[in-house]
Amino acid sequence: MTDYPHLLAPLDLGFTTLKNRVLMGSMHTNLEERGDWNRVAEFYAARARGGAGLMVTGGMAPNEEGGVFPGAAGLFTPEDIANHRVITDRVHGDGGKIAMQILHAGRYAYGPKCVAPSPVKSPISPFPPNELDEAGIEKQIADIVTSAVRAREAGYDGVEIMGSEGYFLNQFLVTHTNRREDRWGGAYENRMRLPVEVVRRVREAVGPDFILIYRLSMIDLVPNGSTYEEVVQLAKAVEAAGATIINTGIGWHEARVPTIATSVPRAAFAWVTKKLMGQVSVPLITSNRINTPEVAEEVLAEGCADMVSMARPWLADQDFVVKAASGRAREIAPCIACNQACLDHTFQGKVSSCLVNPRAAFETEIVIEAAPAAKRVAVVGAGPAGLSAALTAAERGHAVTLFDRAEEIGGQLNMAKVIPGKEEFRGLVDWFAHMVQLRGIETRLGTEATAEMLDGFDEVVIATGVTPRDPGIPGQDGTNVLGYVDVLRHGKPVGERVAVVGAGGIGFDVSEFLVTEDSATEDLPEWMREWGVTDTAAARSGLAPEGPQPHPARRQVTLLQRKSEKPGKRLGKTTGWIHRAGLQMKSVEMRAGVNYERIDAEGLHVSYGEARERPEVIACDTVVLCAGQLSERSLADALEACGVSAHVIGGADVAAELDAKRAIDQGVRLAARL
Ligand code: NAP
Ligand code: SF4
Repeated sequence: MTDYPHLLAPLDLGFTTLKNRVLMGSMHTNLEERGDWNRVAEFYAARARGGAGLMVTGGMAPNEEGGVFPGAAGLFTPEDIANHRVITDRVHGDGGKIAMQILHAGRYAYGPKCVAPSPVKSPISPFPPNELDEAGIEKQIADIVTSAVRAREAGYDGVEIMGSEGYFLNQFLVTHTNRREDRWGGAYENRMRLPVEVVRRVREAVGPDFILIYRLSMIDLVPNGSTYEEVVQLAKAVEAAGATIINTGIGWHEARVPTIATSVPRAAFAWVTKKLMGQVSVPLITSNRINTPEVAEEVLAEGCADMVSMARPWLADQDFVVKAASGRAREIAPCIACNQACLDHTFQGKVSSCLVNPRAAFETEIVIEAAPAAKRVAVVGAGPAGLSAALTAAERGHAVTLFDRAEEIGGQLNMAKVIPGKEEFRGLVDWFAHMVQLRGIETRLGTEATAEMLDGFDEVVIATGVTPRDPGIPGQDGTNVLGYVDVLRHGKPVGERVAVVGAGGIGFDVSEFLVTEDSATEDLPEWMREWGVTDTAAARSGLAPEGPQPHPARRQVTLLQRKSEKPGKRLGKTTGWIHRAGLQMKSVEMRAGVNYERIDAEGLHVSYGEARERPEVIACDTVVLCAGQLSERSLADALEACGVSAHVIGGADVAAELDAKRAIDQGVRLAARL
């Protein structure tokens, strides 16, 4: 008897059967562009072995103009088809099924050749699109069809036609981007002609026994998006045109509502798919912020969909289904929806990986093998760097002892997990704790490791982390001044009016913590109110007419930095705007280009620019220092002084721009070769 009867039930598609209800959703990893086909194949094959019912590849361009960026991969030549054969053969050999996503980006294509129904520039691209004429539209359809036929030739089990997230087909559907007056624009019947025609002609070309998923934007979250009636009409037409499955798309990329970030409640949009259940007879897939087998099972049990799509969770753990099915769900490394190593990398042109699992998409590069000889390994510091090193070393058969001066593992993750909107970090700390126990790691918590204690170990890993930087502001020793550790870790009382010194990741987090009464991340109706999301049946596009209704701020906060650039500019590419918007909704004032003059009972005295002009006082009851961090190297230095060689990783190695992504990556890579 399984805990996940709905999730693990097969899905009969008539001509083929999926072994369970789990789709690995499409993710652009940038792997296909690198041309190492063995590596791409291993990425997918590992997830086939991990039990995915069906996988969808990253988006493949149907032609040059439709590629997300110049040089985007696609099936253009016989050689491309042969290369993709390497993937499909490997996946089939490992008992999996895989569909290729065809992604035409339309006006989101990052290049001057981009095309669209009308020349309406996207707010997230510098390139105004070229308006297509009739022949141009026919060419796009033909190229998509050719791509599907080649996918079949390459051995794929199907294709997913990307019709959502504001890409090309989606752009035809709504008046926001389609201003045409010919048979491809105007009335909804005309605007939906292109997606339906694409599905019809692809089906005709590939034959009946080939999976055709249509990803349909069920809630656009942009002005003048589709109504609920239009969504239903399109779904019925797409089914009639030959789709095997309809997948859910949530929000356009330019939407000002977060849809997959960690602050979005789990399964926040399952209700959107549920509204379509019963309107069509093909299976429906729901998506977004489903990251554990429990949540997925619940979504299916509640009748929200026939299948769930999880994408990033498959980066965090390639064995997601196998572990869930064998009673080992607690061993599943959780995706914390941070985007830091996946989507942020995609946008930077880097290979996507995962903060929690640096082996994702690096399976052939970071190989974890049994150690030739078991060693005694000491790891000092149970933060992300030390934990990852300890787990990997233990997995390889070493005897690991883990020291930390704190009474609990997790290090800085324990501060992240108290930030409203970062609740997923709790699951990550819990996972680390479970795995430490499971791998038989000896823990010495509440212990300040000394050079003497480390004597006798074969390998010593120093992961002692960081200490807060002292900004040296006159008056900072006053009782009205706290450090971020006092606030987040020790829960020291903070006044009503607060000045936060330093607008890096921690300054933003501390501000969020100080202004938020109750996190909306675990309260879906409240979260929807905060971001202005409503039922598509009540308002076109799912945007509430009254707009966002944020909960009032708990405190008055001013967030400051010395640099003159926009505060938050260096936060994650795909999440920084959410942090900025969230604080703006809570009326946090942001000041850049300040000099910190002094702190006294009145508050924080600042001036501006090199000439120290416009002196003013930020009147406040408390000043919180979030001025960055320095390496905690005292133990590393002491060991060096007595000639003991140690591996120094994480913040203890380099504090600047440290984050859990680098810490975990360094820990795993080091332990893979100990
Ligand atoms: P940080 O991002 O380096 O920011 C430090 C802040 O302190 C900056 O605003 C800096 O701005 C200011 N500062 C630096 N030296 C100062 C000085 N001497 N006096 C006054 N202010 C000074 O560091 P952090 O906020 O401590 O975060 C640490 C790491 O954790 C970062 O790498 C960050 O990426 C990561 N993190 C990420 C997130 C996330 O959401 N992704 C959240 C939390 C933490 P000025 O020099 O302009 O004043
Ligand atoms: Fe999930 Fe973050 Fe890993 Fe991306 S990097 S898969 S969001 S945990």
